[in-house]
Amino acid sequence: MSPDEVIAYVKDSGLRGRGGAGFPTGMKWQFIPQGDGKPHYLVVNADESEPGTCKDIPLLFANPHSLIEGIVIACYAIRSQHAFVYLRGEVVPVLRRLHEAVREAYEAGYLGKDILGSGLDLEVTVHAGAGAYICGEETALLDSLEGRRGQPRLRPPFPAVAGLYACPTVVNNVESIASVPAILSRGKEWFRSMGSEKSPGFTLYSLSGHVAHPGQYEGPLGITLRQLLDMSGGMRPGHRLKFWTPGGSSTPMFTDEHLDVPLDYEGVGAAGSMLGTKALQCFDETTCVVRAVTRWTEFYAHESCGKCTPCREGTYWLVQLLRDIEAGRGHMSDLDKLNDIADNINGKSFCALGDGAASPIFSSLKYFREEYEQHISGRGCPFDPAKSTAWA
Ligand code: NAD
Ligand code: SF4
Repeated sequence: MSPDEVIAYVKDSGLRGRGGAGFPTGMKWQFIPQGDGKPHYLVVNADESEPGTCKDIPLLFANPHSLIEGIVIACYAIRSQHAFVYLRGEVVPVLRRLHEAVREAYEAGYLGKDILGSGLDLEVTVHAGAGAYICGEETALLDSLEGRRGQPRLRPPFPAVAGLYACPTVVNNVESIASVPAILSRGKEWFRSMGSEKSPGFTLYSLSGHVAHPGQYEGPLGITLRQLLDMSGGMRPGHRLKFWTPGGSSTPMFTDEHLDVPLDYEGVGAAGSMLGTKALQCFDETTCVVRAVTRWTEFYAHESCGKCTPCREGTYWLVQLLRDIEAGRGHMSDLDKLNDIADNINGKSFCALGDGAASPIFSSLKYFREEYEQHISGRGCPFDPAKSTAWA
């Protein structure tokens, strides 16, 4: 297949980016200008950090060569001779595993100069990040890779036009690239035979929280949480689902009323949330929703890069209000203040981190306002933290 044929094939397969946004992978590859005389780069985003998301790191640990094979195919398609993998620096065993796998691929002649006598060259560089959540945002990642402090850049221009070293760059998630070899070897029809029409294929779900068997589950897009729980042993014995996230804490939470929502981009979107990273964090009736939202908001405040005021200041003030409510020092007027601050972050921040921080505030107030009011009128948390293992 020619490079253009590979791009068209991946586009026809319907593969959508598995990093959270679901952007069509083949279309992203197609954006790379050809004959422009500039180097092209592939950057694999392995900086998996979204709370609850745990699929790329296990995938890399289990089968790093699926990623390397995907990298070779993607670089052939976009005519790139250098790929970078930006990995969370904290996961040292995975870093070692990936380095080892890249070394093996060089030794076998699948990477380096004149790959298997094809005349094609490809270098792969594995880079360890330093643990900032914001470096998972694609443009902050590129800044970090270039040796600068990781902060988001203004888009457009998107990386496809001006990315790494101002050159056309494809930034793809680990799972997206690792899915490509199977699509090419087993066929786009096979891939399309799973999932739904607009969200085809299989994917990895991270199931965590108060479930009997947390872990990574591979299944078609469009499966429901009820089906996944049925197959995986359900909630922990004697307890029932209270709330859950479809795609990590940045996606609006769902309740037990949403168990039959199809887990694809359209189904979750129509129900008022986002599929995101497919991080299904499940909380049972022992969990204080105010405590959960406080914990997430502390995370966003800590990880806010400080570049823009709504997120930098807003996440700080959200944490102050939530801590007061949780500790029994809140006032009923604080609930409107929470909503107002979240509203001033959402859609008014420089990057998606701000929107992500606002999302648990809106959804928890929508579904569990009474629980916030209970904390305020009862002067403290009505839940016994000893009964919940979510924060252990
Ligand atoms: P986005 O929708 O802005 O962009 C998605 C991708 O499409 C990007 O690579 C972008 O460059 C590309 N793109 C979009 N429009 C384009 C255009 N017109 N031309 C060329 N390229 C274009 O989403 P985002 O802000 O990059 O990412 C947000 C997502 O990240 C959220 O949905 C969230 O679920 C996810 N997320 C994931 C993690 C994790 O750990 N994996 C952490 C935080 C957030
Ligand atoms: Fe930084 Fe937050 Fe603004 Fe994103 S939204 S640029 S993380 S301060």
